[in-house]
Amino acid sequence: MNIVLLGAAGSGKGTISDFLKSEYGLKHISTGEILRNNIKMKTPLGELAARYINDGNLVPDEVVINMIKEIVSGNNSGYIFDGFPRNLNQAQKLDEICKVDLVLSVEVQRDIILKRLSNRRICPKCNLTISIDDAPNGLCPKCNSQLITRDDDKPESIKKRLEIYEAGANILKDYYKNKLFVIDNSGDLKTTMNSVKNVVGGKKTYDM
Ligand SMILES: [Zn+2]
Repeated sequence: MNIVLLGAAGSGKGTISDFLKSEYGLKHISTGEILRNNIKMKTPLGELAARYINDGNLVPDEVVINMIKEIVSGNNSGYIFDGFPRNLNQAQKLDEICKVDLVLSVEVQRDIILKRLSNRRICPKCNLTISIDDAPNGLCPKCNSQLITRDDDKPESIKKRLEIYEAGANILKDYYKNKLFVIDNSGDLKTTMNSVKNVVGGKKTYDM
């Protein structure tokens, strides 16, 4: 079973991905990681990608999809695609190399995501990321430095990022509408995991 996982930063997508790995033995595919590995191992595709990057260009979809193809073809494991596809072209190409069984869109009410992200602080000295709820005095619990808010975590930047994410996600959600399930992660984790189990478990009995 292959699952595409959609979700904005702060949606808790990472937690759900971990759950899918441990509960269903799926393997996690992150394109960033695949790209780095190929470049590090100096594979032909890695060398090609490195040339684009060194020239200051983005690595074309075609190269990334071929890297994914090498991993999934002739392999019986199920995969979680995280952060990929990002656009319609990538989604169509992914369909050519493997069957996507389920698409989970992890969603959180906007005011909750805003609160979660705007509560995030970082320590400029030791890089610890922490919620202000866990450091009410505004000081880093590890090294006692004054915590700061990253520019990225200011409400205006968060709103803008969410809007960009949603515009892209809506296109993908429409493309995958026949296999799409929305997982509401606004409440507690247990409720979320139960809905994931219901969706994935139900799918499993029919498909595997
Ligand atoms: Zn610190």
